[in-house]
Amino acid sequence: EAVINRIAAGEIIHRPSSALKELLENCLDAGATSIRVTAKDGGMKLLQVQDNGSGIRKADLLILAERFTTSKISSFKDLERLTTYGFRGEALASVSYVSQLSVVTKTKSDTCAWKATYVDGRLASKDGSPAEPKACAGNDGTIINVENLFYNTPTRLSSLRGSSEEYSRILDVVTKYAVHNPHVSFTCKKSGSSAPDITTPSGSSVKQAIGQLYGQTIAKELLETKVSSNEDSSMVVDEAEEAWAAEVFFTSPNYQAKKMVFLLFINHRLVESPRIKKALETIYTGILPKGASPFVYLSLQIDPRSVDVNVHPTKREVHFLDEEQTTQKICDAVHAILVGQNQ
Ligand code: ADP
Ligand code: MG
Repeated sequence: EAVINRIAAGEIIHRPSSALKELLENCLDAGATSIRVTAKDGGMKLLQVQDNGSGIRKADLLILAERFTTSKISSFKDLERLTTYGFRGEALASVSYVSQLSVVTKTKSDTCAWKATYVDGRLASKDGSPAEPKACAGNDGTIINVENLFYNTPTRLSSLRGSSEEYSRILDVVTKYAVHNPHVSFTCKKSGSSAPDITTPSGSSVKQAIGQLYGQTIAKELLETKVSSNEDSSMVVDEAEEAWAAEVFFTSPNYQAKKMVFLLFINHRLVESPRIKKALETIYTGILPKGASPFVYLSLQIDPRSVDVNVHPTKREVHFLDEEQTTQKICDAVHAILVGQNQ
């Protein structure tokens, strides 16, 4: 059984940066305003994420890394979020099957912090023997340590690149989440180094964060628009489930990059959609010289029920209902502004 779970987990967690994505989303769900990421050996030896969010109750530590179970649903009272992508609640379980996972956490009402370690979904010490959570010192919030990722799945381990490549993917994920969550302060560093590679303040704006993380050359040329399904609401009367809203930041033709930089968040989750990327890039054809590309940030909120539930949330490509029409409408809005700019 452990072997099957391990294989399943490897399908969800591909590399340190995909584990990080899950951990960051948990911090954000927990209402953190400060998130610190530390990586050793590209996150392969250690990936640590510390937040100042809600913390985890001791009782929940018992089933924290269990795979999707009814006890987990009722305990976490999280049915709504479970439906967000149709299939959730197993990120930490997956991590525990392919690494040594440990958690130090404290809620506001706890008088001390609790430390718990997991192997194969269960509370256990590194040698696999059962282990109860232990009281320890700690601040409000949660520290998650993922150690020796893929130590027990050699195929996954051998598919990883070197630590500098894995670390740059980690930086990329932190950068993108920092842009999307400018109210949260992020840091990211290599373990043992005192100067973080990324530090963002809390309380800035998406535009400021883009400037800080991607450079003022981009920020200076940023245009923006908001598009939603309700603009011509004369047509739609009561189709709330088809409602969507998008916020786009995109560079003017004055900015020309060699490769397109594209950040896509759907319902606050970092995802990839080659089709949407291509559609946006195509708008710039004839506006930018050949070979030049833009920077585009798109945050799209759609009804969770319209996301294709057959596509696993951790698969990088996402599809949703009315994807073509929605994309078209966003592209039209961006195009109109670009053309206006150009005259
Ligand atoms: P999901 O996020 O889909 O519920 P996860 O396996 O990622 O599944 O996390 C399981 C649960 O553990 C979360 O629902 C949350 O209640 C709790 N949790 C995980 N990480 C944190 C964190 N950093 N702070 C507070 N709670 C957390
Ligand atoms: Mg999660």
